[in-house]
Amino acid sequence: MLEWMWEKKNGISFITVPAWNQQGIDIAFTGRNGGASEAPFNTLNLGLHVGDRNELVLENRRRVMQLFEQDIEQMVCCQQVHGSRVVSVTRKQRGCGSVDMKNWLTDTDGMVTNQPGVYLAAFYADCIPVFLFDPIKKCIGLAHSGWKGTMGRIAVNTVNIMEQDFNCQKSDIQVLIGPGIGSCCFEIKGDLAAKAIAEFGQFRDIISKEKNDKYRWNLPQTIYHMLIERGIKPENVSMTGLCTSCHTDLFYSYRKENGITGRMGAFMGIRD
Ligand SMILES: [Zn+2]
Repeated sequence: MLEWMWEKKNGISFITVPAWNQQGIDIAFTGRNGGASEAPFNTLNLGLHVGDRNELVLENRRRVMQLFEQDIEQMVCCQQVHGSRVVSVTRKQRGCGSVDMKNWLTDTDGMVTNQPGVYLAAFYADCIPVFLFDPIKKCIGLAHSGWKGTMGRIAVNTVNIMEQDFNCQKSDIQVLIGPGIGSCCFEIKGDLAAKAIAEFGQFRDIISKEKNDKYRWNLPQTIYHMLIERGIKPENVSMTGLCTSCHTDLFYSYRKENGITGRMGAFMGIRD
């Protein structure tokens, strides 16, 4: 089973995967502490689009890239439109969206690369980060899977791009499904529950019914099932099981904080 752990460096707590680190992969999912931003974005907000001061967000991004001894210009960021489009990126795209939203990768929610020194970065407050690594082809992928991206099977699309563009074998691909809103807190109404059941009715433990028109949807479990169905080996998939909405001391939560909050960052790069 793929093991993940919390690590703390320079005052920043982040989740990482030691086995990937040992194979030359930098990976982090940051918490909300250790940054420069003030309330309600306190303190390690990495999202430029949430109303925080740009210079503070850029300082925060620099601090995270410093964890890997890399510069902010190594980052590649996508627009994150809650879509399901995944693109492969190269060194040419380095710096896209890293200091300015103007040149982020438009209409994109997932990225894949096999080039060292390219740091895939995406930002989250309840949506589910999905990290992928093929240790044979040395190829990495990162997806932003909120409920819309989950409906669009963006995690599967990321596997597809890894196969098509980099010749990855599905039996080699390892996946970490990171912190996001859990079924404990992701309450939805009947109309959305019906859509989820229509799409994923064959999966176990996805939707639970509360009283009246209330349901709960387990997004991480849904992503897990679609990956297994796609042919990823169960022993190659891990979930942190951490709920962002339950832990606003550690994480930002869009739902819990009524939409006015910062963003955690998922970072993944192949060391030079
Ligand atoms: Zn929760």
